[in-house]
Parts: sequence; structure tokens; C-alpha cells
Amino acid sequence: MQNKLHTAALVLFSGGQDSTTCLAEALSKYDRVETLAFDYGQRHRVELDCRLTVLAEIKKQFPHWAHKLGDDHQFDMALLGQISDCSLTRDVAFEMEASGLPNTFVPGRNLLFLTFAAALAYRRGLQVIVTGVCETDFSGYPDCRDDTMKAMQIALSLGMDKRFLIETPLMWIDKAQTWQLAEDLGGKVLVDLIVEHTHTCYLGDRVHRHDWGYGCELGQKTTCPACDLRGKGWNKYKTTA
Ligand code: ZN
Repeated sequence: MQNKLHTAALVLFSGGQDSTTCLAEALSKYDRVETLAFDYGQRHRVELDCRLTVLAEIKKQFPHWAHKLGDDHQFDMALLGQISDCSLTRDVAFEMEASGLPNTFVPGRNLLFLTFAAALAYRRGLQVIVTGVCETDFSGYPDCRDDTMKAMQIALSLGMDKRFLIETPLMWIDKAQTWQLAEDLGGKVLVDLIVEHTHTCYLGDRVHRHDWGYGCELGQKTTCPACDLRGKGWNKYKTTA
């Protein structure tokens, strides 16, 4: 729904399935869309490389979106490594791994990301901040929940004296519905682009190619939670489509 208040958006764009779907959604709604990624270590290098390919492919395959796609930004968040390295006790480390969160997890990381995003949005004149957080799949992350997003929207708007809208198009849908949303926004072309070029795997696997893209073999002991969700979501999307 287009309105005059909200014409330009900043998408937190990591190069994964979720943020690519969010980017397509923003491009379908807003006149100008810029993108932002956070670089917080080698582990995510593959994802950062993929995102540039995804941006190039979107420009190539969706000419009616290409002219809306503005600057791409990348922030160095190496300092997060200092937090994740320094204070994990044995118990905390175990607990986090047991809950499926990576042991490099930084508590409240998404709060930091949103604050940096809002500062950039302020400087770039963008009213909307779009993020692919989701309660349905990753309720383990308290800094990705709907209430947290609403609280951040108020805190950032007050703290910067500028009205921001934090948009979370994936908040209440599951991975199968995220695949369906991509199809609704950009048809098979967008679904194929996401399969081929986006990266979700925590382990950086770009060797094993499945129907749903590159990543871990499903059903193995070593399957990462991100591939598990992406693959299972794909299968559900395909059987219900
Ligand atoms: Zn994986």
C-alpha cells in the first residue's frame, strides 16, 4: 500500500532467502530502496559475496525494479567478535548450542543492527526500515520478536526525533509461505533467483546443490538449522503449491 509518508526504504539485506524476499517486497512498494549488510566475520563471507550477485541479478532480471534500487551499504561490525569471544562461560556456551543458536551468538545483536540501520536511514532520508525477522521460525531470538521490533520502532523514532517505520513482512509466516511470497512478488523468475543465488547455510556450503539451493544435506547430524528450515520449507511449499 503506497502512501506519501513512506516512499523510501532501507532493507537489511544479507543475501539470504529471507532478506531477498524482503527486498523484493520493498521494491514492489517503494520508490527508492537502499540495502545494508553487516560484516561480522569470515564465517559470513560467502553470504556477503552472494548478496552482490543477488543485487546484480535483480537489476538484470527485474528491469521495472532496477531503477528503484539505490546505494548498497556495508558496515564493518568486527567489534561484535570482541563481545562473542570474551565472556562465554562454559554453561552459557552449552545452553546456546543446545537451543540451536550459533555459539558466536551475541545477545541483542539485532538491537545493534537496527540502531545502525536507523542512523543510516536518517542520513539517507529513508523512512522505512525493512527486516526479515520472524517469530514463526526463530522464536529463540528475543531480539527478533514482534514486541521487540515495535519497542525499537518507538525508541529509535524518539531517540532520533524522526518517525521510522520498522517493517517485518515475514514476522508471522513460515518458510513455506516465504517461498510463496517470493512467487507472488516476482513469479518463478524470483523463486529461481533465490534458489540459485541466495545463501542461508551457517556452514557456508556452496557445494551441495538441492532443489532449494546450496547448503547442507538434510537429515544429517551435521545439518545446520538454517538449511533444515529452508529445505523443509521448500518441500512444504512444493507440496502445497
Ligand atoms: Zn547448512
